[in-house]
Amino acid sequence: MNKREFLRDLALSIPAVGMLQALARDAIAAAAEGPAADAAAAAPAAPAAPAAEAATEAAAYDPSQHWWGMGVDIHRCIGCNKCVEACKAENNVPQEPFYFRTWIERYSIKADGDVQVQCLSTQPPRGEDTPNVDPNVLRTFFVPKLCNQCAHPPCVQVCPVGATFQTEDGVVLVDSTYCIGCRYCIQACPYGARFLNPDTHTADKCTFCYHRITKGLQPACVEVCPTQARIFGDFKSEESRLARFERMNEVSVLKPDMNTQPKVRYAHLDGEVR
Ligand code: SF4
Ligand code: SF4
Repeated sequence: MNKREFLRDLALSIPAVGMLQALARDAIAAAAEGPAADAAAAAPAAPAAPAAEAATEAAAYDPSQHWWGMGVDIHRCIGCNKCVEACKAENNVPQEPFYFRTWIERYSIKADGDVQVQCLSTQPPRGEDTPNVDPNVLRTFFVPKLCNQCAHPPCVQVCPVGATFQTEDGVVLVDSTYCIGCRYCIQACPYGARFLNPDTHTADKCTFCYHRITKGLQPACVEVCPTQARIFGDFKSEESRLARFERMNEVSVLKPDMNTQPKVRYAHLDGEVR
């Protein structure tokens, strides 16, 4: 049994999450300190130049100056799935269609009031075929979904080892070196935004492409969207596209009653969207 399996079994066997957090954190810290400290002592000194470069890059980005969020304009999304493909390529998401960090749902509103929801991201590509038209469907629209980067994230609250955490600039991340794959966060997320990565056996989800945004780039999904249905920006900047998007539209969030305070805001969100 390795360290991760031991901690996961420990986490699952003790019901009191508070006690569990303390125990597991101590255990992880002790386990991490031992070999890491030994390795550090034995390792040759790191070359000075890369360290200096990393320090300069880190110094250039100040997380306290940002509070990242995303706007999604439902009227602009055409359901092309390009964002899903770009996300998979950028973030090394397993290629099987049921693993994704962002996904597109198609809502079909029928004449009798029935609402059908279909996840396009799990379907094979449609090619050039014209889809069958159901005469009972009054209208259809597409809803891009992803982790809402909640300001009050329940996934962070339940993680027994502190592997899921919120950055100073408001992005919820998973430290895969700490994650024990217990799935508590997957169950706690009200938006179904997480999955267990079959390669790493750790929790996985959208990071807003944190490795890109801290370098001044857009998340991959935003960059490839041909209709600019996704808008990325900084809530702390009045000049940002996101701030303008909020000023120009009446925005809403998914499941507002959960009080998670999502930072993904939707324009033209239909009341039927769950
Ligand atoms: Fe956590 Fe789910 Fe909120 Fe993302 S959407 S921050 S995974 S609770
Ligand atoms: Fe468990 Fe999720 Fe925390 Fe990983 S990130 S340890 S799966 S709660």
